Amino acid sequence: MFEVIGLIHELEAIGQNPKNAILDSMKKTGKKAVGCFPIYAPEEIVYAAGMLPVGMWGGQTNGTLSDRYLQGFCCSIMKANTEQALLGQYDFLSAVIVTAYCDTLKCVIENWKAAFPQMNLIPVVYPQNRKIQAGKDYMREEFERVRKELERITGENITPAALEESIEIYDEYRYAMQEFVELTQAHPILLNAKSRHLIIKAAYFMDKKVYTKKIKKLINAIKKLPEEETGKKKIILTGLIAEPDGLLDIITENHMFVVADDLAQETRQFRTIAPKQGDALQRMVERIAMQDGCAFLYDKDKTRGALIKDMVKKYNADGIIICQLKFCDPEEFDYPILKKELESEGIPSLYIEIEQRIDSLEQLRTRIQSFGEMLS
Ligand code: SF4
Repeated sequence: MFEVIGLIHELEAIGQNPKNAILDSMKKTGKKAVGCFPIYAPEEIVYAAGMLPVGMWGGQTNGTLSDRYLQGFCCSIMKANTEQALLGQYDFLSAVIVTAYCDTLKCVIENWKAAFPQMNLIPVVYPQNRKIQAGKDYMREEFERVRKELERITGENITPAALEESIEIYDEYRYAMQEFVELTQAHPILLNAKSRHLIIKAAYFMDKKVYTKKIKKLINAIKKLPEEETGKKKIILTGLIAEPDGLLDIITENHMFVVADDLAQETRQFRTIAPKQGDALQRMVERIAMQDGCAFLYDKDKTRGALIKDMVKKYNADGIIICQLKFCDPEEFDYPILKKELESEGIPSLYIEIEQRIDSLEQLRTRIQSFGEMLS
């Protein structure tokens, strides 16, 4: 048990202190770091370049410097990223990859080019039609461009062997994470909502190889523990992120736990594994083409509802909490469809609007408490 608690605390601390964790990883590995905006940055290429891909998922900022570049109705992640960049918090990064899914991100790319002319900014645009050959060809060209940009920055070629090795490392990480999230069902106290989130989040700030080794150790140690019987209600979270952490504490306080998630920051990162056919870049292309049920990748069949309904059955979940990041258009467009689908199946759901920095959680507390009581 001591080993499990030690590993959990270690990963939680990393999830809570991204900058310290990144600087520590840079020191230990001797690698330079490349910032990766949400959601599907081609991290494998960064890793193959001998650099550390690190997540840039905003944070709790309260400054106003970003107001010079972004309107008041921009999402809190972009405001936080821009604020932190203007404060010089990202000066240690060798490059920043920005994937564009929405109008906000397109503006952010142009604004960052103006605000940080010295920065190696690498925009990546995913095609609307990811599944057709033209879309896949275009995606491959985008990945080739990222590869060339990183080669220019490092002055070194990214070899096919390095790319192959990188994608294997990412596959191993994704398989391990699929196993990890399954553990929550039997260990809802040990892996309460906040712990589960922070452990998953820690992966963004560590060398993936090192992280995977640690998470596998944690998985093996948890598997030896007896299952926990709690009678807590099983919740599935869906959305981009489920932050701030206080939100997750409220879920735990109200006798619920996260049995599974459909969050872009969490399970959507690893639920699709690259197929084995083709070279590394082709496998990356196919993985994105296969990724369904995500508001950020065009999905003409709108498969998210069906996917969540399947999850409810698989995990025998009691309800869904839809975490809507304020001002995130792609997620907002999905909600009416999702709501209708969940209602048609009689699946209880709670829609909450969140921002990374919320001055008072009391309104959320009341709503989550009422939802918990309703499920009981
Ligand atoms: S609006 Fe949504 S998709 Fe766009 S940058 Fe913000 S969080 Fe990302």
